[in-house]
Amino acid sequence: MFDKKSLAYYNNTRVIARCTMQFSVRSILNTPGAQLPFAFSMDLSGLDFGGSRPIADPVAVTGSVRNRLDVLELSLQAKTTLHCVCDRCAKPFLREKEVSWRCFLATEKQNEDNDDIVLLEDGEFVDVEDLARTAFLLEMDTKMLCSQDCKGLCPRCGADLNLGPCFCKKELDPRMAILATLLENEPNE
Ligand SMILES: [Zn+2]
Ligand SMILES: [Zn+2]
Repeated sequence: MFDKKSLAYYNNTRVIARCTMQFSVRSILNTPGAQLPFAFSMDLSGLDFGGSRPIADPVAVTGSVRNRLDVLELSLQAKTTLHCVCDRCAKPFLREKEVSWRCFLATEKQNEDNDDIVLLEDGEFVDVEDLARTAFLLEMDTKMLCSQDCKGLCPRCGADLNLGPCFCKKELDPRMAILATLLENEPNE
């Protein structure tokens, strides 16, 4: 019985959430200058990126749909703090991430090649969460680095090379190794 109750509650919140993020632009369709602001937060914490889930915090989305000379322009910002793990040195770190995105809304697509135009469903509905999610995910970095010049870990001893050089001997090109042996055997003057 308890299970059933919590399930119903879950479904309820989902339905409400969908209603607020998918809305009609009918009221501003024929009113130049009018705009519909929106703000909500997205939960993308379940998304897996190569074994980690960096979008642990909610993504705050703000934006508006504006009628500009009878053209509907949607602009949005999606912002969060990513919980990353460095691909080179495995150190966890936080990174602010903000994505700005813009498109035009149309009741029919005149030019199939124009990716800036999003079709309104039933001639009036737009799903801003769907758009915000796509825009945000497109901007996710494929490589997570704690800093662009992260030196990573030594492949032999695993030491964090950002903290200083390790005590491993530098691995040499086999052709150079012969030369190194010769140099090592050379008596010091
Ligand atoms: Zn690193
Ligand atoms: Zn080492």
